[in-house]
Formats: sequence, structure tokens, C-alpha cells
Amino acid sequence: MEVKADSAQLQEKSKVALDHQMDNKSLLQSDALYQYILETNVYPREPEPLKELRQVTAKVPWNFMAIPPDEGQFLSLLLKLMNAKNTIEIGVYTGYSLLSTALALPEDGKIIAMDTDRRTYEIGRPIIEKAGVAHKIDFREGPALPFLDEMLKNGGMQGSFDFAFVDADKGNYLNYHKRLIDLVKIGGVIAYDNTLWKGTVASPPEVHMNEGFRNVRLFTLEVNKALAADPRIEIAQIPVADGITLCRRLS
Ligand code: SAM
Ligand code: CA
Repeated sequence: MEVKADSAQLQEKSKVALDHQMDNKSLLQSDALYQYILETNVYPREPEPLKELRQVTAKVPWNFMAIPPDEGQFLSLLLKLMNAKNTIEIGVYTGYSLLSTALALPEDGKIIAMDTDRRTYEIGRPIIEKAGVAHKIDFREGPALPFLDEMLKNGGMQGSFDFAFVDADKGNYLNYHKRLIDLVKIGGVIAYDNTLWKGTVASPPEVHMNEGFRNVRLFTLEVNKALAADPRIEIAQIPVADGITLCRRLS
């Protein structure tokens, strides 16, 4: 009886912990600490077009899908440190990560951006145009896998890209990896988003989750294991936002 009560208590406690983690887009110790980072480092330096896109996106259904501004800031700095010029994005939604990338690339930079749904991209597009970076974006509507296959087979784009950002259907991450490893150049970087999945990758089995959430957790565990064992890449798990795994192609 006592064991049962303990288990029920643990489940309730874990549920509360998980719900709490899902409140914001960070895995930090407290909301206050995350707020501190946003207010001190991120919001004061967030470019005006990104701020506008964030405010517009806040009124769109599924707005939690957009990357948070601290992640946008991180991606932007990374792209500049790498001198990235040609990139791929899988999973655009209204375009926060896309616009962060477009603003960070040089004038002649190019992004091939893919999403199954053009409608959400259209919400962000006027802001991207106003920001003067639309010429860097080649948006392709449809599932990403056939586009990547085409880029490899007929496009001859092997080794053409400095960077790829993957933030779409988590069940395909390893299929994307198979293609992206050939599309990025040696020394190029593939960034996989949400690889800590609200911290649930380390959750005990008692934690309450709905089925969809649980499935993504399983995909994420599989992806993390495969990336950690892949000798073609050097990796770093960055606990920014919901976790980003950076993979630098070695061979
Ligand atoms: N990076 C975006 C941002 O910062 O706003 C958020 C992307 S959202 C988490 C995931 C996106 O992936 C959705 O817009 C969805 O339509 C798209 N998506 C889902 N499955 C896809 C697929 N097979 N190929 C391309 N895009 C896909
Ligand atoms: Ca994401």
C-alpha cells in the first residue's frame, strides 16, 4: 500500500515538474533565471524584425513551435563565427529561425528552407521582406526528404553547405542525418533542435506524458544515441532552449 502511494505521489510530482518545464522554453533551474537572461542579454539586442515576427507569431496557433529568442541569438552568433554562407533549414513555421539565419548571413548568403506548410511561412514573409533579406531565401513547400534526395541526386550539391538547421518531424531526424551528412561540407555543421525534449530524455518511467509526446521522446533517445556513436561527426549537446545538438562533419 505504502509503495503504491509513493508511486502515485512520484507520478503526480513528476507531472507537475514536466508541466512546469513546458511552461517556458528553457531547461534552466527557474523561470526567473530564464527571464533574467532574456531581459539582460536577449531582448535588448533582438533585431527589430525578429521582435516583430515574435509578436506576430504569438497570435498564431501552435506558436510554441517557434524557437525562442535566446536560441535565435545563439544561432546567429554561431553562423557568424563560422562565416556561414550557404545553409539548409528544415522546419520553417512562421520563420523565426529562418529570419535569424537570414540576418546573420552575408548579403550573398543563401538558405534553402523547407516546410510542408507554406501558409505559416506566408505569415512571416512580409516581415522577412521588410527586413531586406528575402533574396537570401529559397523556400520549398513539401516534405523535406524528397527535396534532400533531389539535391543529392540531380542537384550535385554534395558538400555544398556550411550549415543545416533541423527543426521538423523528429521521427525523420535520422533520415535527414543520412542525407545532410553528404550535403554539408567537411567542417560544416548540422544542428538538430529539441534534442533534450523538455528534459524528458532523462525522465524516470513514471512520468506522465501523452502518447505523441512519449513517441517523440523515444525518437529523441534514438537520435541522441546514434549521433553520439557516429564517427563521421564531432558533437556537442548545447542545453540552450530545448537542447540543440551541434554536429561538425569530420569526414
Ligand atoms: N524553426 C521554426 C521556427 O523557429 O519557428 C519552427 C519549426 S516547427 C517546430 C516544425 C515545422 O516543421 C512545422 O512548420 C511543420 O510544418 C514542419 N514539418 C513537419 N514535417 C515536415 C517534413 N516532413 N518536411 C518539412 N517540414 C516539415
Ligand atoms: Ca524546435
